[in-house]
Order: sequence, then C-alpha cells, then structure tokens
Amino acid sequence: MKAFTYIKQGVFGFTEKEKPILIDEHDAIVRVTMSSICTSDLHIKHGSVPRAVPGITVGHEMVGVVDEVGEKVTHVKPGDRVTVNVETYCGECFYCQHGYVNNCTSPHGGWALGCRIDGGQTEYVRVPYATTGLNRIPDNVSDEQALFVGDILATGFWATRISEIKEEDTVLIIGAGPTGVCCLLCTLLKNPQKIIVCEKSEARRAFIREHYPQVLVVEPEDCEAFVKEQSLHGGADVVMEVAGGPDTFQLAWQCARPNAIVTIVAMYDKPQLLPLPDMYGKNLIFKTGGVDGCDCEEILHLISQGRIDTTPLITHHFPLSKIEEAYDIFENRKDGVIKIAIYPDAK
Ligand SMILES: [Zn+2]
Ligand SMILES: [Zn+2]
Repeated sequence: MKAFTYIKQGVFGFTEKEKPILIDEHDAIVRVTMSSICTSDLHIKHGSVPRAVPGITVGHEMVGVVDEVGEKVTHVKPGDRVTVNVETYCGECFYCQHGYVNNCTSPHGGWALGCRIDGGQTEYVRVPYATTGLNRIPDNVSDEQALFVGDILATGFWATRISEIKEEDTVLIIGAGPTGVCCLLCTLLKNPQKIIVCEKSEARRAFIREHYPQVLVVEPEDCEAFVKEQSLHGGADVVMEVAGGPDTFQLAWQCARPNAIVTIVAMYDKPQLLPLPDMYGKNLIFKTGGVDGCDCEEILHLISQGRIDTTPLITHHFPLSKIEEAYDIFENRKDGVIKIAIYPDAK
C-alpha cells in the first residue's frame, strides 16, 4: 500500500509498505477513510520533533473503519466506523488512571501514531491500545464531522476544560488557526460573558467574523489595549495561547488579569522567556500543553447533538495520491486553506 513517509529532515514522500498486521492482542487495524494534515506533521518534517522516527508513515488525524482487532480489544469490532485518537494509552498506569493520558508510561503511550510508529496518511493503520484509542462514530455523524475529534478538537476540548472557564469570564484566545478555532468552539459551549479572538491573518479574522459573529476579533498590535478595555478587571480572566508565534507567549500573560489562568496550547519552535520579575505580583496560573485526548466519546456525543461543528474548517479535499500538493497548499497557506481532508484513491 501507498504510505506517505517521513524520509529524512525536510523530506516527506511516498513509499510502498505492506498492509499492517496485528502485533499485540490490544491492537486494531483500521482502514483509513479520511485523514488530514496537521501543523505537527510540518513540525516533524522540519525536524522540531526529535522523537519522530525517520521511515514512519506520517499522519495522526484520521477516521476509518475497523478491519481487524486483537483478542483483548473490547468496545470496537470489525466494521465499526471509528475516530482514531492521536494518543495511544494503556488506560491502566498512574497517569492514565488520572486522565493524564499524554503521559502514559507504556512504551507506546502518548503521541506515537505518525511520530514514532506508522500513522494514517496511508490506506491502513495499526492502532495500539485500540480499546482506549478508538471511538465509535455515531450513525448521524459523517467522516468529515468526526475528522478532528482525535486531535485538534480533542486539544480544544482539553484546553477549555483545564482553563476552568466560568460564565462571568472574559476569555482571550490567541491564534485562529485550526486548533484555535477548536478552542473557540469548545469555549462557546461554556457560555462565557465575552470571547475575544486575536489573530494576525486578515483572512482568518474574516473567517471568525463570518462564522462566529458573537465573538470579538482583534489584531495582535491592538490586543492588549482592547482586552483591557473589554474586561471588567483589567485583563482577561482566561487566556488560551494557541498561536505559538515569536511574541505570542508574552502577549498571553500581558493580556491576563492578576490571578488569571493562562493555558499554553501552542507548540513552540524555540524556548520562551518567562520574565518572572516583570510578572511578579500578578500571581498567574500557567497550564501547559500536550493534549490529554481522553474525551473523544463526549466530543462525538456533542457533535451528534449538533453542538460542535468543525466542518467549516475543511476548505480543501485531495485524494491520497495528491497529498504532496495538499502539503504544499497547507504549509504555504495558499488559497485560504484552513484544513484539508484526504480521502482514499478510487480502486
Ligand atoms: Zn496534530
Ligand atoms: Zn497508561
């Protein structure tokens, strides 16, 4: 089968691989019916994910149909339509038991798919710990509606949960890329007093205005003054930093009111400066990234009820055989792209 592969730093390309087989009794084989390209794939390509293993099939956002399951897999069976979780986790170790599945201590725990083991930009994928890593898609939910459940939407859901948003809050979300929009969708469910989205791209600001008119939108240059003017206590009650730009970490804590929660969702290319003397007395609470993707069932339920819809994010569709073209568009932000759905080639 055709597998889009991390060949070496800076180079992804197609290789021919055998269809995966069950290795462990907790594994499942999933036929990929739709996948997507994530910014983290680009991080692998450019060498900023040191644990990524050259030779692996990339891709960790996908949905599919269960093809085969190991003896110990419960919860899903062949023929089920499923979302695939970006993180594989044992469900039994200390971290899993506390919901911190990103830190699962199993050798395959955490972000393995499309990073340390073969991922989903291909035809079939082997999913370790399939009982925890796969979730059945409700019949009234399409592949497109479910596509982001296991990764960016799980991230938005988790970030919103740990941000402890209350109805009286003013929430600032920095970055309106795909993950920022997922944070926004999950924040909307919490019904805070005000939501402000800060984004430097004019096209992305227009996207937010068009789809979520109840949200305030601001450019980075005006953000701090705007947030202070719009909030009751001199800054945002909750800040989610989802941009990962050179100055956005500074912007995040500067826009927060004293004692606010600042949740860092972004994955940075470089270390960030934490200027403690400047923030002394502000008593901020920082929470840092690495999604614990264990809420997929609840997210699928919300989609099924019509309470979350990520389909406006899908701006392009490509068959797997043209994924290089899709990467070019995604990486270079051509043609108003937000997310791309990759579908199997016709046989
Ligand atoms: Zn991702
Ligand atoms: Zn575990």
